[in-house]
Amino acid sequence: MAGFLIKTFGCQFNQLYSAMITDALIRGGHRSSESLGEASLVIINTCAVREKAEEKAFSFLGEAAMVVGASHIVFMGCTATLDRERAVRIAGRGLNVVEGTAAVEQVLAVVGTVVPVGELDCTPPRSLFPTADIELMRGCEGYCTYCIVPRSRGPEVIVDVGEVLHRAERAIGSSFSELLFLGQNINRYRSRLGGLVEIMSSVDELDGNFWFWFLSSHPANFTPEEVRRLMELRHIEHRLHLPLQSGSDRILERMNRRYTIADYARLAEPVRENADWTLTTDIIVGFPGETDDDFAHTVDAVRGFRFDGVFLAKYSDRPGTPSSRMQDKVPLALIDERHSALLRIVQDLSEQSNQVLAGKFVDVLVLAVPAGSDAFGKSIDGRNVWFSCSEPVPGIGTIVNVAIDHGSREGLHGTRVC
Ligand code: SF4
Repeated sequence: MAGFLIKTFGCQFNQLYSAMITDALIRGGHRSSESLGEASLVIINTCAVREKAEEKAFSFLGEAAMVVGASHIVFMGCTATLDRERAVRIAGRGLNVVEGTAAVEQVLAVVGTVVPVGELDCTPPRSLFPTADIELMRGCEGYCTYCIVPRSRGPEVIVDVGEVLHRAERAIGSSFSELLFLGQNINRYRSRLGGLVEIMSSVDELDGNFWFWFLSSHPANFTPEEVRRLMELRHIEHRLHLPLQSGSDRILERMNRRYTIADYARLAEPVRENADWTLTTDIIVGFPGETDDDFAHTVDAVRGFRFDGVFLAKYSDRPGTPSSRMQDKVPLALIDERHSALLRIVQDLSEQSNQVLAGKFVDVLVLAVPAGSDAFGKSIDGRNVWFSCSEPVPGIGTIVNVAIDHGSREGLHGTRVC
């Protein structure tokens, strides 16, 4: 049977689709390869959200084409949808391009033209990883001016509530410890039960020992009341990831985010009032037209909301987006300068947030137990935790209690309580 290599770029959605394809191929008798030299099938799952990821995918495509030949490569995902011509120019004729995202069935059909496959089942993966990713919806109609997703992933498609609950039950029954519900703009989920709160409440009522959380929220489609109701659920992880993107109302408007800092503050309030919950966010530095004053508002907002973690991105044009046509671009050197300044603040905030837990006990979901070094996991409020433990070592996916010795900007460090 063929050895296959899947290279995945980008978001959690791509990770999910790659995991589904991996699972289907392994169940079909194929083996996963670590290197191009051993592979007779290469699948490249691409991301167009950031230029860097796109360039890396094209570079890997060129390398793979030289080693295995274009006809043994399946090129899929957002970049395949948006720039098929460039992919074919790089790899040569014969490249298998699958346009459209979430096209797992289509990818498996194309795979069958490259390597022998029988009936391949593309249900969600069974793997040793303790987290089951479950899609609530795909696509987006948010039209933020910097974002390529509405073009690359298309309009919103909602997964039926019965299917979501079935997948959740099956994941819990298969001993997954954590469920991660996914939607590009998950607050727009709608079903016969209601919205996000109702479907999450139904998940919360399922029997079993599990944690769950969801990505990604959009402040314009969320209410403080909904945040409060979600925070009351029994199995929900104690964290909210709420992308802010900028601290300036003027820039938020140019981004077409459809909320103000005051709106955001109302949503963040229930989380900030509860010391057991963390609040994390995304910020884009150097959006076109961002002045020193706008940037100062972002710094104030990051400090004011005391984010426990911030994913910082430097603005870069995505061809085809409205912001790529804006004329007043911020010079790259200034973007770098602002990014470095904000990064220092963000790192200090993370460190302070983690240090507060020194001397406390936290529940940790075990994710890795490498031989000869500390085990690694995630606390119920989403922090990285490294901990020492004596025999017997805990299994991946178990939940252990850890005494925290100290916090760093990367996370928490401690010892498992026996
Ligand atoms: S909500 Fe905005 S940033 Fe998020 S995927 Fe949709 S368009 Fe992109």
